Amino acid sequence: MSYVIHPAPQASLAVANSSDRFPVRRIFCVGRNYEEHVAEMGNDTREAPFFFTKPADAVMDSPCTMPYPTLTNNLHHEIELVIAIGKAGSDIAPDEVQNHIWGAGVGIDMTRRDVQQQAKDKRRPWDMSKGFDHSAPISALVPLADVPSLTEGTIWLSVNGEPRQTGDIGDMIWTVDEHISALSQAVRLEAGDIIMTGTPAGVGAVVRGDVMTGGVDGIGEIQVTVA
Ligand code: MN
Repeated sequence: MSYVIHPAPQASLAVANSSDRFPVRRIFCVGRNYEEHVAEMGNDTREAPFFFTKPADAVMDSPCTMPYPTLTNNLHHEIELVIAIGKAGSDIAPDEVQNHIWGAGVGIDMTRRDVQQQAKDKRRPWDMSKGFDHSAPISALVPLADVPSLTEGTIWLSVNGEPRQTGDIGDMIWTVDEHISALSQAVRLEAGDIIMTGTPAGVGAVVRGDVMTGGVDGIGEIQVTVA
């Protein structure tokens, strides 16, 4: 087999305490999954979970430096628990979801908020507000056996050492089991898929030179500098 152009390198993420890497196939993101964040964005908390995507090669290992993206003057951070799928499946029951999870980490769903607002206003897709280059910095992934909990734990993000976002993954509207089950009804999940599970309240802007640090207790930490 030969290709007419060189195939892209496999997108991947670091694995904690290992030289092996996790190959990334797709990135799915959950919208509006913490009540206080839904409220701060002016939306209704009773909606069913919905999903959007980023390209696999938007991932970056932590610690990293991300270039300030084009087309925006309002680049926002959204700290999120990240789930890595290790076993394929479709129409997965909530109590079967854990059998499909390889591990977890913490990521920042970087967002061009002004571009997203224009998309909402004009009923256009979110792709260019969410799926731009370098928009998915993610920590080293931890195997599920080493994850203390996917149902409780502090999730936080600071900018230049000042707290911006603090919540608990137990405050998700749709739990990991519930929203991955729902996602698996929309698409067949495959090994290598990544799910960014939504952000707590406190999203806000960063500018060039800012350093974001964040984490989920017991799972991992991330550090991203905006250049
Ligand atoms: Mn998000």
